[in-house]
Amino acid sequence: MTRAQIEVDLSAIAANVRKVIKETKVDVCAVVKADAYGHGLVPIAQAATDAGAKWLGVALIEEAINLRTHGLSLPIIAWLTPICEDFDSALRHDIDLGISSIALLEKVLAAGERTGITPHIHIEVDTGMTRGGVLNEWPTFLKKVSAATLNEKVELVGFFSHFARADEPNEIANQLQVKKFTDLLTELKATGVTPKYLHLANSAAALSNPSASFDFVRLGIAMYGLSPDLKTMGTSKSLGLIPAMTLRAKLYLVKQVPAGVAVGYGGSAVTTSETKVGIVAMGYADGIPRNATSATGVFINGERAPIIGRVSMDQFVVDLGANSKAITGDEVIVFGPGNAGEYTADDWASASATINYEIVTRIAARVPRIYNR
Ligand SMILES: *Cc1c(COP(=O)(O)O)cnc(C)c1O
Repeated sequence: MTRAQIEVDLSAIAANVRKVIKETKVDVCAVVKADAYGHGLVPIAQAATDAGAKWLGVALIEEAINLRTHGLSLPIIAWLTPICEDFDSALRHDIDLGISSIALLEKVLAAGERTGITPHIHIEVDTGMTRGGVLNEWPTFLKKVSAATLNEKVELVGFFSHFARADEPNEIANQLQVKKFTDLLTELKATGVTPKYLHLANSAAALSNPSASFDFVRLGIAMYGLSPDLKTMGTSKSLGLIPAMTLRAKLYLVKQVPAGVAVGYGGSAVTTSETKVGIVAMGYADGIPRNATSATGVFINGERAPIIGRVSMDQFVVDLGANSKAITGDEVIVFGPGNAGEYTADDWASASATINYEIVTRIAARVPRIYNR
């Protein structure tokens, strides 16, 4: 192993996909945006496909093109497409496009005219998230999209929206979003067009709200084996999910230090007794959060060694304890599924005031990914 690496358990990805297909009884769109939440775009898309996913979902057209270039053949939706994007390429690569404004619809129609390829579109409506999706433009958008569909200028493949609070299953806001979704769908259908596929649920809704499953669920975080929210939804384990990512690193130096020495930039931590410290060859340039506290650290020889001092750009220091047998060159687990007692992505998230989504997606490209089956 090099100084650090991510190991991805593809059988965990497959198990998580199968579990959700079985429980929701609908198809899964495997969400592989942001390099598959840091796990690696193409291997994850392939594993999800092999496990029975019927769609792939990404934010960007370039991510979708990358999938096509690597031979992935499932339908792909790209739903974050500023109007400056290369829609001609998207159409040539058979990529479905999320449409959330009149301006975007017009750009995509123009690309359809230019290329002679009928765009496959999914209308995105804003049902309460106030992020993507048509809102104030709806009446005019409705006329334009309906006319384009009836004139066969576009193929209306999908109709979708996104939850703001699906990880709080008891929130009334979720019911209101489902109602808005079906109300807007009724208005669309009244113009004489019917989308083939309806999709609304992310992981949290897929796991907790059967009324939101519709034709397929867009499965992100749960496919990677992580809980959408520990407090409201439970842990990976209680949800029956298997975390796929393990982050390993090397101690490039282990040394004995006396009591009373300051560790790292700013001397923010001082040893309280003689101890051994280990210097881990990863830092915030690799995605280790600079604000991570001693509530997390690494796992070595069956024990947890907490962070001591501030995380630097390329390294951080852990307190191994006076009796540690660790030596220079040893390998540590930064986080993993947690089965052996190692810290988890959830532990890192709570120790750095963020969410597990951010912990896994932020690991830098300079950390190699390797794949186990
Ligand atoms: C990222 C994303 C998802 C997946 O969300 P998870 O909470 O990771 O399951 C689904 N739909 C849209 C529109 C997204 O942007």
